[in-house]
Amino acid sequence: MADFRTHLSAAVGGGALLAFAGWQGGVWTPSEALPLGALTAFGGILPDIDADHSHAVRLIFNTMAVLAVMVGVLLLHAQLEPGALLMVCGGLYVGVRLVLSPIFKRFSVHRGIWHSLLAAVLCGLATSVAGYQWLGQPAWLAWAQGLALLLGYCIHLLLDELYSVDLTGARLKRSFGTAIKPFDYNAPGNSLFMLLVAASLLPWLPPFTTLQELVLQGSTFWR
Ligand SMILES: [Zn+2]
Repeated sequence: MADFRTHLSAAVGGGALLAFAGWQGGVWTPSEALPLGALTAFGGILPDIDADHSHAVRLIFNTMAVLAVMVGVLLLHAQLEPGALLMVCGGLYVGVRLVLSPIFKRFSVHRGIWHSLLAAVLCGLATSVAGYQWLGQPAWLAWAQGLALLLGYCIHLLLDELYSVDLTGARLKRSFGTAIKPFDYNAPGNSLFMLLVAASLLPWLPPFTTLQELVLQGSTFWR
């Protein structure tokens, strides 16, 4: 498999390219482009969330904890006194870092369900829902954010798959075929559950017509 540094550089590169291309094409402004590039970079390390004791895991959970605190402040600052807000945000940080992370480690298998296209789509959809419903982003931008994460995720899976081909001897390593898969064949129950979670997000998504327009706009740009 590709190592953490390779993943991070590829994802950051992909994110920068996406952000720059869309900005040049007039699809988004620089201030909209920056989070999109960051989401692609984050998506590019996200699949290794299931690898125990890796740089990726630490970075992913740190990022998620910071994001949780930011969302907490955005959503609650009007309702809560500063003291209470501090307590809640502290709780969110500790919750993600010290509770969610160990639980995740306990129950996930590396190169299992999180290295699948289903997981990529789920994470992309969740990003769009979070942007649209919680952060009040316009529909097209929420879709773009979900797609940016999806792009990073796919870059990661592709890299892992490429690295399972032994380039010197042109042999296939045993890990070939474990990185890009539609879902986890070894755990159909978990895959079905993941599919149901993805389906349950559908009512919360931004309108699909906006996604269509965005894709159309993107495709005319590339032609
Ligand atoms: Zn991986």
